[in-house]
Amino acid sequence: MNFGTKLIHASGDIDPATGSVSTPIYQTSTFHQFDIDNFGKYDYSRSGNPTRDVLEKLIAELEGGERGFAFASGMAAIASVLSIFSAGDHIIICGDVYGGTYRAATKLFSRFNIDFTFVDASNIEEIRSAFKENTRGLYLETPSNPLLKVTDLRAASRIANEHNAITIVDNTFMSPYLQRPLELGADIVVHSATKFLGGHSDVLAGLVVTKTKELSDRVYQVQNTFGAVLGPQDSWLLIRGIKTLKVRLDALQKSAQKLAEWLEGRDEVEKVYYLGLESMEGRELHLEQAYGAGAVLSFKFKDIERTTIFLNNVKNVAVAVSLGSVETIVSYPAKMSHAAIPKEEREQLGITDTLIRVSVGLEDIDDLLGSFQEAIEK
Ligand SMILES: *Cc1c(COP(=O)(O)O)cnc(C)c1O
Repeated sequence: MNFGTKLIHASGDIDPATGSVSTPIYQTSTFHQFDIDNFGKYDYSRSGNPTRDVLEKLIAELEGGERGFAFASGMAAIASVLSIFSAGDHIIICGDVYGGTYRAATKLFSRFNIDFTFVDASNIEEIRSAFKENTRGLYLETPSNPLLKVTDLRAASRIANEHNAITIVDNTFMSPYLQRPLELGADIVVHSATKFLGGHSDVLAGLVVTKTKELSDRVYQVQNTFGAVLGPQDSWLLIRGIKTLKVRLDALQKSAQKLAEWLEGRDEVEKVYYLGLESMEGRELHLEQAYGAGAVLSFKFKDIERTTIFLNNVKNVAVAVSLGSVETIVSYPAKMSHAAIPKEEREQLGITDTLIRVSVGLEDIDDLLGSFQEAIEK
C-alpha cells in the first residue's frame, strides 16, 4: 500500500461484526468475561480498548514500527517515554526542544536523578562529544521549533546506536507523511497528535511508535502503569483526522511555500525561515531525510513596532499557540511558547521579540496573502 492508501485503509476499520465503515467508539471502561478460565482479549480500558487499538495499529503502520501507543496529550506521550529510563541514566537532548519537554526534563525527571545534556543538535560533533559512560538516550526534534534547524537523523542515530543509546524523535512538525524517523535509524517516535495528525484544533492527544518488541514492552508497561491513555472518543477523532493527513499537508505545503516566498520579498521582513526556501540553511539535508518542507514557517520583522502592529491587526487567522490545523495559526514565541526563557538567553537562541511563527492553514492563499499584506501595511 502507498502512504495515501494506508491513511484510509491501514486501520482495517471496517467493523467485522457489523460492517460499520466508521470505527465504532467503544465507550466502556471494563469488559465482561464470558469464560472465567479463558479471559477475552480485553479486560479494562486502561490496559486496552478496541477503539484505541485501531488508532495504535494505524500509527504503528504509518511510522513503520512494531507497536503504537495513544496517550492523553503529546506531553503524556513524551513523559511516558522518558519514564522507561532509570535513575542514574544520562540523556542527550536538543537545546531548542519543545518547551513542555524542556520542563519535563529539567523540573521533573531531573528530580528522579536522570541527567540531561542540552546540545545544538544541528551540529553532529556536538552530539558525538556529549556521550558519557551512562548515556542511555538521545532525544531529537527536526526540524526544530521555531527556527527550523535540521538534525542529521541517520548520523545521529548511528552514533547513539554505537553507544547502545535509544534515539527518540519528536516527529510532530513533519508527521509520518513527510518524515519517518524509524526508517532513518531512530528507535522511538513521539507525536503531539494535537497538531497535524488531529489536524482540526479539536483534540489533545499524543502518540508513540516503537521499533522493537523489547521497547514496545517497556513503553506498554509505563502506559498501563501510569495510565495517561487516550479515551475512545478522542481516539476516534484522531482516526478521523488522520484520514485526510495527505491532502491537508499537500495543500498546506503549497500555501506555506507561497507565503514564505511572498514574505521574503517584503522590505519590512528581515529574514524568513522555511525549509522550502533556497536561502535556508539545512535545506538539502532536510530534503534527504524528509519528503517535504512542511507547513510551519517563521519570520523576523526589522523592528518591534511593526511586529506588534502586525500581531494586533492580522485578520482571519488565530493568534495562538499550537500548529498543524485547518486554520492559519500565528504565534509569537517571545510571549508564548518561549516566554519562560530569560530574554538574553532567548535572543541568543535567535528567538527575538521580532520573531513570528506561522502554521499555514487551508484558507485560500490569496485571502491569506491579503490578510498579511493588510496587517503589514497598517
Ligand atoms: C505541542 C507539542 C508538544 C506537546 O504536545 P501536547 O499535545 O500539547 O501535550 C510536543 N512537541 C511538539 C514539537 C509540539 O509542538
